[in-house]
Amino acid sequence: MNIVLIGAQGSGKGTQAGLLTEALGLRHLSSGDLFRQAFEERTSLGIRARAYIDRGELVPDELTVAMVLQRLADPAYKAGAVLDGFPRTISQAQALDRGLKRMGRRIDVAAYLDVPREELLARLSGRYICRAAQHVYHEHTRPPKVRGICDVDGSDLYQRSDDAGEAVQKRLDIFFGETIRLLDYYQNQSKLIEANGNQHVEQVLTELLDEFHHHMAHSQHGRYWPGLSMPSNCG
Ligand code: ADP
Repeated sequence: MNIVLIGAQGSGKGTQAGLLTEALGLRHLSSGDLFRQAFEERTSLGIRARAYIDRGELVPDELTVAMVLQRLADPAYKAGAVLDGFPRTISQAQALDRGLKRMGRRIDVAAYLDVPREELLARLSGRYICRAAQHVYHEHTRPPKVRGICDVDGSDLYQRSDDAGEAVQKRLDIFFGETIRLLDYYQNQSKLIEANGNQHVEQVLTELLDEFHHHMAHSQHGRYWPGLSMPSNCG
């Protein structure tokens, strides 16, 4: 079972990816987290990617695709993954399909989290994440118990360099100009589901899971996943 989560910056994609991962017993794979981790570890990949990230641009495919496919090939991801932040372009989606096919796997569902652009800007400007594990907080809507400290692991909170200034607008432009085309790509493969991301975290998760179970029950793919238990509202 592999799920692609599509959502603009600030749509709550990372939060929902973590919750979905837990609910469905999968692994969370965030391309942005992999890049930030690589930078913290000062690997050459991390240092090369950093310049693009700071400008709010996409990191070139030759770095991104190999990094994600390599991670997916790790046995820890064999049971399946929730992909967060990858793919972001049609060419990445095609590379992902080819790479998974070579491993005898595939994308089962692509889920879109829909949030209006003006709401995204408000969310991004107050966002802080923790250094140890990228837990997400918000100045107004989700402050930590102690200012500047992560509730979960006690590490420092910081504002991402690309959550301020021009990089924010650029990232949203790329999302609404380019990444959004993935909706057609996955719709054409009958894999697309959608949820309204402009509601409380728990409501978004409920809607996502309902849509997911409904999709799996009515698609051919569901038959290949014996572990799937249907909620009662699936008819
Ligand atoms: P956001 O979705 O808020 O932009 P991420 O943490 O997912 O945050 O990504 C941060 C940055 O990492 C992106 O702006 C981009 O520079 C780079 N990045 C992440 N995923 C990809 C990808 N699939 N292709 C190219 N660049 C990526």
